[in-house]
Amino acid sequence: MSKNEMYDLIIVGGGPAGLSAGIYAMRAALKTVLIESGVPGGQVAITKEVENYPGFIEIGGFDLCEKFLLHAKHYELEILEKEAVATDPGIEYHSVRLADGTLLKAHAVILAAGGTARKLNIPGENEHFGSGVSYCATCDGFFFRDKIVAVVGGGDTALEDALYLSKITRKVYLIHRREAFRGSRILQQRVFAEPRIEIIYNTVVTAINGDDSGVRAISLKDTQSGAQRDIDTEGVFIFVGFTPNNTLVPAGIKTNGTGYVITDEKCETDIPGIFAVGDLRQKYANQIVLAAADGCTAALAAAHYVETRKDAQTCQAAG
Ligand code: NAP
Repeated sequence: MSKNEMYDLIIVGGGPAGLSAGIYAMRAALKTVLIESGVPGGQVAITKEVENYPGFIEIGGFDLCEKFLLHAKHYELEILEKEAVATDPGIEYHSVRLADGTLLKAHAVILAAGGTARKLNIPGENEHFGSGVSYCATCDGFFFRDKIVAVVGGGDTALEDALYLSKITRKVYLIHRREAFRGSRILQQRVFAEPRIEIIYNTVVTAINGDDSGVRAISLKDTQSGAQRDIDTEGVFIFVGFTPNNTLVPAGIKTNGTGYVITDEKCETDIPGIFAVGDLRQKYANQIVLAAADGCTAALAAAHYVETRKDAQTCQAAG
């Protein structure tokens, strides 16, 4: 890479969406660079087990990411371990600025920066992540078959995932800080009708307690009376919101009320040649297989976009 090198495609983010985009872009013969500041794999790399990616009945999150990475490297995808700090849309080309001041130029950019589950920031949360604390019911619910779990939150995700967990586990405590759920009416009705869900309103979790083998209990505080108590549980599913990593999304690109990028069916944003994929993009569900599918869609669409642009530039040059 040199400072003035022009790429066909820059991919920002090395999770399943970004790496899948990289594989398809290389196979489409696009001159591509992928920028990833952390460990390739994104959120999946820190997921203990994955049991819903087709082809793998069970695979460690890190191992699955390793396979994505090896697959991308097989096609000689250039991967830059650098931090991207801005995307600058342009008429002639788009550019991505790196923290070290380098400016990379390309015809197309795929933003695949993912998102981050909001945390409670309470004692025990980080310590027991992956061994009792989870931010994904479909990823980890199965490990709590016939056990008692707690779900924290009162939005659609908490309600939906409490219902999902109630089909797998023995009992679900649904703990919400207020006495009315934010989630949709229909989900509320289903939650109220599910005997395996016990709702605890007006309550916050103040600590997650356990030992080396996992979570054993959580400490609760009633927000009205101030009363404190512990309840036994082996799993704590925290759904208090998810924040898309949208700091690299340039102004002028439409996002929804919660910061997810709105795209068309090609994953293209309002700015031609700039695509958003994976957990950054507004869609029905956030799953690894969908992130990979987004990467595929965006790379194929980017290939078409780049080809069209190059043809137009050739025609222009020919007068
Ligand atoms: P959300 O709607 O932002 O809800 C977050 C929940 O967590 C709220 O109930 C909030 O309580 C609670 N909370 C936030 N910070 C907390 C804290 N520090 N301690 C305790 N509780 C805390 O997030 P979401 O449920 O992930 O949904 C995000 C978006 O995706 C929403 O627009 C939702 O409609 C959408 N979604 C839709 C579906 C669907 O349609 N099937 C499924 C999932 C998500 P308060 O209510 O008191 O603020």
